[in-house]
Amino acid sequence: MGVDAQMFVRTRAQFTQRAVRALSVDLVEAFGSEMFLLLPDWAIDGEWERETEVEPEAGVPGRHALRMVRRYTQDGDDIAPDAGETFLEVSLMGRYYGLGYERGQLHDYIAVAEWLEYRIPEAAVWYGGDSSGICAEPFNKAYRGALMAHFARHGHKPYRGAFGDRGNGPVCGFCGPRMSSSGGGQGQTFFYCAGCSTACARDDASGEVEVVTREDRHSNPGSGVFVAAKRLRARLAERAS
Ligand SMILES: [Zn+2]
Repeated sequence: MGVDAQMFVRTRAQFTQRAVRALSVDLVEAFGSEMFLLLPDWAIDGEWERETEVEPEAGVPGRHALRMVRRYTQDGDDIAPDAGETFLEVSLMGRYYGLGYERGQLHDYIAVAEWLEYRIPEAAVWYGGDSSGICAEPFNKAYRGALMAHFARHGHKPYRGAFGDRGNGPVCGFCGPRMSSSGGGQGQTFFYCAGCSTACARDDASGEVEVVTREDRHSNPGSGVFVAAKRLRARLAERAS
């Protein structure tokens, strides 16, 4: 289970549903649809939706990049708008990035927050996670700067480092350092180079290695290590037969 990023805007500006929808379309146009959870068939009839969603305009169903909500829910206390305040929740698609969970694409979230500040009068952007008790905090310039400084220094290493040991990994022919271990199974150990996204699988018994480069993966959809593991199994099986 990963922690997903969550974001919402607090503003005293008045919005119609139509205006929120137009802003949502602009937001997706600016950043691309991959960054948001867009669900055309999302029915607004579940208990949670009924409680949180502001009644949508007739004939425009589904979940969009921006939606007006009655309150912000999280793995902690709900946050409710003050009198005269509107909450616009951003349906981000991606993992959270923060101190102790250096996983998601922080710079994307900072760019979205900045875009929202330009487009929404008196916007205060809040940012948090959906689980593990990571609650939303004001995502102001000071906090964003502190996180960006941490990201520039550490990137995703603290998170990836959790997979551990690069002591006996194969050397990446392109980057130089040894690849980090990224798990394994069925008699194989998987490795990954954070410098170029090359992945490989190594047979524990024979030490034989199958490498899948980033370019290689364009014609092999799926995670690199799984492609490598499958090819290695096929190669060893063919030799054994
Ligand atoms: Zn590399």
